Amino acid sequence: MSLAAHDAGAPAFDVARVREDFPILHREVHGKPLVYFDTAASAQRPLAVIEAVSDFYRHHNANIHRGVHTLSQEATDAYEGARDRIAAFINAPSRDELVFTRGTTESINLVAQAYLRPRVGPGDQVLVSQMEHHSNIVPWQMLCRQTGAELKVIPFDDDGVLDMAAFRALLSERVKLVGIVMVSNALGTVNPVAEICREAAALDIPVLVDGAQAMPHQAVDVQALGCSFFCFSGHKMYGPTGIGGLWAPLSLLEAMEPYQGGGEMIRRVSFETTEFNDPPGKFEAGTPNIAGAVGLGAAVDYLQGLGMDAIGAYEAGLLAAGTERLLQVEGLRIVGTAPHKAGVISFTLEGIHPHDIGTIIDHHGVAIRTGHHCAMPAIARFGLPATARASLGLYNTVEEFGVLADALEQTRAMFA
Ligand code: PMP
Repeated sequence: MSLAAHDAGAPAFDVARVREDFPILHREVHGKPLVYFDTAASAQRPLAVIEAVSDFYRHHNANIHRGVHTLSQEATDAYEGARDRIAAFINAPSRDELVFTRGTTESINLVAQAYLRPRVGPGDQVLVSQMEHHSNIVPWQMLCRQTGAELKVIPFDDDGVLDMAAFRALLSERVKLVGIVMVSNALGTVNPVAEICREAAALDIPVLVDGAQAMPHQAVDVQALGCSFFCFSGHKMYGPTGIGGLWAPLSLLEAMEPYQGGGEMIRRVSFETTEFNDPPGKFEAGTPNIAGAVGLGAAVDYLQGLGMDAIGAYEAGLLAAGTERLLQVEGLRIVGTAPHKAGVISFTLEGIHPHDIGTIIDHHGVAIRTGHHCAMPAIARFGLPATARASLGLYNTVEEFGVLADALEQTRAMFA
């Protein structure tokens, strides 16, 4: 298979060239070239992101908003400029609809507490799928305990495909929110999110989309999706940790109570009363991760420079070739075989515990993740406590899947 793949009109994707942008890919692990297949846990960062963060601290660092001195104004411009570019990246109608958070987890907790908590009570339901990350399960369970609402679950089939008939059967006026992952971090399944949003909208039910694993692999257009809330994390999309976002229409953000109280989320404070700021500031209490936002802005610039369509096309070819190569390993079973997948190959190797696999192949320089991938119900659905997971990014190659497969074959030989 060719390493170059591109859409008509999109820039050509040259993976060898792309790899040069990631300094960490040049290091060795246990004397072997690093083969990094753990991007779903956290992506590596390109030099453009590392340098943007470094440049911010070297030349512009100060606290933002309300500062009259030059550095504060430069820092504010950098932070708010990043908001402009990230909002445009997801095609948000307005920059004011993008709230900076620590990441997907905080975004979902924000929606659970600031949006849904005052709007549900006993008898109401929250609907999530069986393949959600714990971040899109536990905040709703906490909310249910607080309010008496009930958590309902949309099942998926043996391939990891969401049961849309079950989803439709579960939809009713009792459902006050649907939470759905766009791309499963445990199985790689790409869910029909636009369809889910359309069907929920017919009953006026808001849909929260967990976009953590979608953002690095495909172009996201929140308007085309038709969702009410879209959540993502910077570190999954080649940006820094500790920064991410929540997108929601201004009308929803305006109708919501603040999530946390403190600085920046206020307009005026007295001991008698406090007047809140407008969104997005209303949800950004305290000094935010300014350098993180700047780094995420740089990550978005980097991804746009490569072209999301070119990245998606390259990765689709890589996923297919990687799947084919791994299936040649005797005793290897892929967990999650949906026809529409992105970025993730979860697997088991007959007779060998996933943790042993991960530890042994680390000595070949290969980094994969093993365990339940913070999606215990999804893995339990297959009667398993754990899987091994190879997750790919825009810098991986078909040759690296060869290194992984060879390492797995040698692991098998050790247990024979
Ligand atoms: N949802 C999905 C699908 C994820 O993969 C992750 C991270 N593994 C999260 C949510 C949580 O993201 P974060 O830890 O960045 O908040």
